[in-house]
Amino acid sequence: METVKCLIIGSGPAGFTAAIYAARADLKPVLYEGYQPGGQLTITTEVENFPGYPEGVSGPQLMQDLRNQALRFKADIRPGTIEEVDFSKRPFRVVTENKTEILAETVIVATGASANWLGLESEKKFNGQGVSACATCDGFFYKGQDVAVVGGGDTAAEEASYLTNLCNKVYMIVRRDELRASKVMQERVLSNPKIEMLWHHVTQEILGDDSGVTGVLLKNVQTGEDRKIDVTGFFVAIGHTPNTALFKGQLELHPNGYIKTEPGSTRTSVPGVFAAGDVQDLHFRQGIVAAGTGCMAAMEAERFLKDSEQ
Ligand code: NDP
Repeated sequence: METVKCLIIGSGPAGFTAAIYAARADLKPVLYEGYQPGGQLTITTEVENFPGYPEGVSGPQLMQDLRNQALRFKADIRPGTIEEVDFSKRPFRVVTENKTEILAETVIVATGASANWLGLESEKKFNGQGVSACATCDGFFYKGQDVAVVGGGDTAAEEASYLTNLCNKVYMIVRRDELRASKVMQERVLSNPKIEMLWHHVTQEILGDDSGVTGVLLKNVQTGEDRKIDVTGFFVAIGHTPNTALFKGQLELHPNGYIKTEPGSTRTSVPGVFAAGDVQDLHFRQGIVAAGTGCMAAMEAERFLKDSEQ
């Protein structure tokens, strides 16, 4: 059975940064890319706040750059997912999707978080046919058309702004009378003449036919009134859930599912297992923060291996 010094699970900014640092520390890291190679940034719009890109960069390009940097130091990047972990004793046993068993002296968990959905049948039915969780990926298909974005956070605000570059009109469906988004993003959407805010509205049903989405049936939760809007695209931007199902019962988790780490560290409840990026970040959820914690995890794994040799 293969034994590795440092196994990294996940390929977002945290995973790749951990791989860069671990490779340069000669830990010969093996990284499994997971369900969504490159992570959430591969389905995001222009990234303008990642240091080192003064003109901004597209999410997929940023991830390609990080991946290439890890490859340059000979990180062993593999497609596929980890399906099972046993953190009860070291070396830790993990099983890949094709049932290959690997023993790992340290593990860095960087599995990130995934987009939430409203949970409507019609949302599932029209997924890929008008329903999307990624404006950058799919916005192009709605050029010159009317679309809706549901959510009031930074993601929803960014997606709505982005869509105004392509679409005729963008509705923002917000369940309260205020946005959760940062002030700068609030100002951006509230001052954009192409965006119509639908405060106090929730989605009852996504309407459509064989051609895809044709509209959305909403309810005003304040007045109880129904309202139908005609749109061909419906973008869901209502937050994320950490990808921690694999670690339940193995690592201590917060009640909302995020992995618990020691303050100022990436150490989890199991010595030798470290967590980096959005999977353990309830507060910031930024690419650069994920990258920073990926660096910390690799350095802590290196220190852990040195200490356990003594
Ligand atoms: P948030 O959790 O911040 O916002 C989720 C939004 O969706 C809220 O407005 C919430 O409403 C709404 N919502 C949640 N569930 C439902 C539902 N079932 N029906 C209708 N509306 C719903 O998530 P984001 O993804 O927007 O942001 C996550 C983090 O990432 C934040 O910290 C954000 O600042 C950050 N971020 C930063 C960016 C940047 O700086 N460039 C870009 C994108 C994200 P309510 O407010 O009523 O709970």
